[in-house]
Amino acid sequence: MTIPFNKPYLSGREFEYIQEAVSSGKISGDGQFTKKCHSKLETLFGFKKTLLTTSCTDALEMASLLLKIGPGDEIIVPSFTFVSSANAFALRGATLKFIDSGKLNPNLDPHLIDELITPKTKAIVVVHYAGVACDMDAIMTIAEKHGIFVVEDAAQAINSYYKGRALGGIGHLGTYSFHETKNIISGEGGALIINQSDFFDRSEIIWEKGTNRSAFFRGEVNKYGWVDIGSSFLPSELNAAYLYAQLEALDKIQNRRIEIWERYQANLKDITNLLSIKIPEIPHYATNNGHMFYMVCESFTQRSLLINYLKSHGINAPFHYISLHDSDYFRENHDGRSLQYSAHYTDCLIRLPMYFELKDSEVDFISNCILNFKF
Ligand SMILES: *Cc1c(COP(=O)(O)O)cnc(C)c1O
Repeated sequence: MTIPFNKPYLSGREFEYIQEAVSSGKISGDGQFTKKCHSKLETLFGFKKTLLTTSCTDALEMASLLLKIGPGDEIIVPSFTFVSSANAFALRGATLKFIDSGKLNPNLDPHLIDELITPKTKAIVVVHYAGVACDMDAIMTIAEKHGIFVVEDAAQAINSYYKGRALGGIGHLGTYSFHETKNIISGEGGALIINQSDFFDRSEIIWEKGTNRSAFFRGEVNKYGWVDIGSSFLPSELNAAYLYAQLEALDKIQNRRIEIWERYQANLKDITNLLSIKIPEIPHYATNNGHMFYMVCESFTQRSLLINYLKSHGINAPFHYISLHDSDYFRENHDGRSLQYSAHYTDCLIRLPMYFELKDSEVDFISNCILNFKF
């Protein structure tokens, strides 16, 4: 028996909706399924405006264009995150200041923001790791005090909340991913969440290759043309049709993922005493969206042995990010600060299989294997 780390879930209506899109004769972007996804996301989570993109990476690049990031601007971004959280701003020529994670979890430690702010700081990128909220009140207070933008990389955080507010909807801009490894998927896909109305018009222009095409189709202007810089960020209707089926199944998907997560948590509650391996704690201000069940080992050696041991039982349990401040691309540009928690999660974090179709018996099998691991 082998248990993969992830398995993309088909809710059932994807083919029907794709067929409907194809039969409608309109398969490029911004058609009926795109519009349905926009309004579904806006009503489900109370967002003012969303735009589907072909990935979260694209949504982050749109954010970078919207904020007019350029050479000389400084961006504060976690080191323990996916490349795109930083790359989207590096692409525009920004200077990156990597911030460490906290002790509690891989989210950035808000206490470290102040010392990284200079007159050149333009934005903070926050990543809600494993779908668990960063401490947004602390972050927004600092950002407002210094007049800097907050971009929430909520790639993993659909249907997760901070003090009752949906993640992605708290900062100036937010981004979602619908990559096949996320909770709600469309193969490759994402969304930009625009929380400030003065960004609405330009966000559509950037989305539509620098043209005012969206306004034209709404009849607001009588011709459309090149009005700003932009790119082709909108997905085809085929992707949107797939995504719409998934969004309709949100509750079902989320309920099962959370069940699996809580089963791991209950099964593994003694692991910290047995092996000093830590399991996640959800802070009082956050919710759990069942995106990921991870554990933090006591050392790199322990984690390597555990990964190999699980592999020998057919279980794929991978590590995760490698600190960006210490990446091949960036290492020489880093200012030398030690980012101890980012390094710790790089070396010690392990993720357990998590997908809709994972059976209770498999969760128990994986948990028992871990409890029997000797170190
Ligand atoms: C998955 C992920 C991304 C990238 O998403 P894509 O849709 O694949 O571009 C960015 N940031 C984080 C935190 C992610 O987990």
